[in-house]
Amino acid sequence: MRGRAPPSAALNDDDRGDEQMNILSRLKVMGAASWRKPGAPGPFQGQPFRGRRGNDMDPVPIKRLAALPLAFTLVLGGASLAAVPAAHAADVAMISVTLDDGWASQYTNALPILNKYGVPATMYIHSGAINAEGNMSQAQIQAFADRGDEIASHTVSHADLTTLTPAQLDTELAQSKAALQQLFGPNAAVDFASPLGAYNPTTTAAVQKYYESQRNTDGGFNTQSTMDRYNILVQNVVETTTALQVQQWITEAKSTNTWLVLVYHEVGAKLGGDVYNTDTAVFDAHMAAVKNSGLPMVTVRQALSGSTPPPPTDPNPAGATAAINAVAAANPGLGAPAGDIVCGLISGGCYRNYAGGAVIWSPATGAHYSVQPIRQAWARTDYERGLLGYPTTDHIGGLVRGGLYQSYQGGAIIWSPASGAHYSVGAIRQVWAGTGYERGGLGYPTTDEIGGLVRGGVYQMYEGGAIIWSPASGAHYSFGAIRQVWAGTGYERGGLGYPTTNEIGGLVRGGVYQMYQGGAIIWSPASGAHYSFGAIRQAWAATDYERGRLGYPTSGEYVSGAGVAQNYEGGRINWTASGGAVVTYK
Ligand SMILES: [Zn+2]
Repeated sequence: MRGRAPPSAALNDDDRGDEQMNILSRLKVMGAASWRKPGAPGPFQGQPFRGRRGNDMDPVPIKRLAALPLAFTLVLGGASLAAVPAAHAADVAMISVTLDDGWASQYTNALPILNKYGVPATMYIHSGAINAEGNMSQAQIQAFADRGDEIASHTVSHADLTTLTPAQLDTELAQSKAALQQLFGPNAAVDFASPLGAYNPTTTAAVQKYYESQRNTDGGFNTQSTMDRYNILVQNVVETTTALQVQQWITEAKSTNTWLVLVYHEVGAKLGGDVYNTDTAVFDAHMAAVKNSGLPMVTVRQALSGSTPPPPTDPNPAGATAAINAVAAANPGLGAPAGDIVCGLISGGCYRNYAGGAVIWSPATGAHYSVQPIRQAWARTDYERGLLGYPTTDHIGGLVRGGLYQSYQGGAIIWSPASGAHYSVGAIRQVWAGTGYERGGLGYPTTDEIGGLVRGGVYQMYEGGAIIWSPASGAHYSFGAIRQVWAGTGYERGGLGYPTTNEIGGLVRGGVYQMYQGGAIIWSPASGAHYSFGAIRQAWAATDYERGRLGYPTSGEYVSGAGVAQNYEGGRINWTASGGAVVTYK
C-alpha cells in the first residue's frame, strides 16, 4: 500500500468460508482481486479470486468493505487479502503461444520455427506421456526449457478431471507437479491446463491447491486487470485456422489491449486425429504473424507475473510492419516471406519480398502488393524510384477482354491477355482517357512509352493505333484511315509533322479531319482520307474547304506537267512555281 496504512479487519476463523467468499465477490464487483497467505513475497503472489463463470455471485453488501478505498489489504484470520481496482491503464496487448500434450512433432516441426521467429512457448505436458512413442522425450522437452520456455502441467494421464473421484483428482494434480519439477526444476509446473478443457468448480478448487493458474479452452481474450486466472481464455487453433485468422486475433488483441493465448496441438503430424494439428508451413505463417505483430511475446508465467518484457522495438516506420503483414495475410497467394522487411526506400517506404511477389508500403500510399503480370511492367520503370512511384491500389480486375490494372502515384499499369502489361502516365494517359481507356477505339496499350522521335517526341502504341506527344504539339491520338495517310507522309518526320489535334468530326457529309503542324488530313465516307497542305491547301481554303464546290480531296498531291496537282470531288487544283495554284472545276 502506498501513502496510507491499509485498512484491515480481523475475522475469526469461523468467518472464513462463506464470509470470505462474500467479501471476495464484493471485491470482484469493485475490481480485480487476489489474496495471499501471510508471509508470501510480494503483494499479489497468492491465488487470485475467481467468480463463478458467467454468473458472478450476488454481491453481499458488507459495510466494513463498503467504506474501504478501492485498493487495500484485508487481513482475514490466517490469510491476508489484497485487492486492486481495475487498472485499465496497465492492460496491455500481448501474445502467448501454448502447445499441448507434448507431441513429438512439437520438437521436430514447431521448435525450429519458434526459434526462427524468436517466439517463446508454454508447453502443457502430461507427465505420464513423457518419453512415450509419439511424444517428446525428456531431453526434447528440456530443449524448450533451455530456451526459456515454460514447462507447465497438463495432469499425469490427460484424464477428464470432471470424471474423477476426489482422490484421483488430487493424484493427477499433485503427481504431475512433482514429476515435472523433478525432471525440469522448480520453475516447472507452476501453471496448469485442464485436459480436454474440462473443468467445474470442484476441479478448479483442486487446481488452486497446486497451481497458480488454469488454462482451459474457453474462447476469448484476457484483460489482465479483470481476468480470471483460473480460466485463462484462449483462441483454439485447428487444422483449418489460417494465418489471416491469426492476424485477425492479433488485431483484436491490439485494439482491446488484451492478452491473446493461442492453443496448438500437433504441428505437421496427425497422430491425435485430423482436427488438432497445424500444417508446418501454416505454423510458420502463424508465427511470422505473431512475431511481426510487434506485440510482447510471453509465456503464461510471464504474463501472469507481470514481468512482461517491453514490446520489441520495431525499427520500421510506424505502421509499416503491421500494414505489410496485413496485406500479406489477406493475400495468401503471395506465399512465404523471402527475407525481412526492408525500409529506407525513397519517400520513407518499406517493402518485403515474398515467394510470389512483394508488398510495398509508404507513408503516403499505405501497403499494396506487387505481383505478376503487372509487376514486370513496374520493374521496367524502376519500381518506386521511377515515373510510376508507389502502388496506390492492389490489382483491380473486371476490365473488358479479361484485363486488370493497378494504380500508382504516377498513373497505372494495365494488363490484358492479348496486350500484356504496360504503363499509362501523364499527357498520353489523359488522351487515352478521353477515348474511353481500354473500352474505346484505341483498346489496351501494347507498348510502354517510346521516346527518341524527332524534336523530342514520344509515342505509345495501342491495339487500335497510337498516341503521339511532342513538346511543341502536345499529345494526340492517331488511328485508322487518317493514321494510314499520315504514315504515308512519313509520320512526324514528314511534311505534316506531329498531330496538333485529335480527330474532329461534324464536317458536311459525315467528314472528319485531324490537324498537323504542317496541314491536315481529311476523311469522309465518300472520299476516303487525304492530306492537305501548302499552297494547294491555301487555294482549297479560298474555295471554303469541303463545303465549297471542290468538296473533299480525293487524292494526294501528284506530279502534273511542270508542277503538282491534287484532285477533289468537284475538280482539281494545279500548282506551278511560275503560275501558283489554279482551280479547275469539273
Ligand atoms: Zn490436452
